[in-house]
Amino acid sequence: MLIKCSHCSKELSHDTKSCLGCGSRKPFKGVVLGVKDYKGWMHKDIRHFQKLGGKVTSPLWSKIVVFVLLGLISFSFYKCNSLNEASKETNVQLDNALKDIDNVLKDPRKRRLLECKGIDPYKIKPEGWTAPTKQECDVIEKQLEAEIKR
Ligand SMILES: [Zn+2]
Repeated sequence: MLIKCSHCSKELSHDTKSCLGCGSRKPFKGVVLGVKDYKGWMHKDIRHFQKLGGKVTSPLWSKIVVFVLLGLISFSFYKCNSLNEASKETNVQLDNALKDIDNVLKDPRKRRLLECKGIDPYKIKPEGWTAPTKQECDVIEKQLEAEIKR
């Protein structure tokens, strides 16, 4: 493919080493090729053309891909952030609910959850008392969180 030197206008092959007319090392400075212009070039041809000062525009689809990717990344970031915020808020509400002792005593599950969190609400353990299992704690916590969210 022939491209004019931007200094002396001599037509040069795109794989020339420098301008054969004026000797410029960057004969393609300021030359911009569209996707159709460099169709069929190998990657090294494009690199060489850029080394001689030329520029190529990237195909539309690659711009779209980048745009969509950026969109996806920022969306998932936003989504993740708002989920975190929501669960933080529920945790605070749950902690507040547990601090209200009257509230806790009315609901045996909350009393149980206090034990889960390592806070012992009993001076004397009731008969038949067993330490809450991790599974039980998870179940109670989920139930209470669900109620708070409602
Ligand atoms: Zn030239």
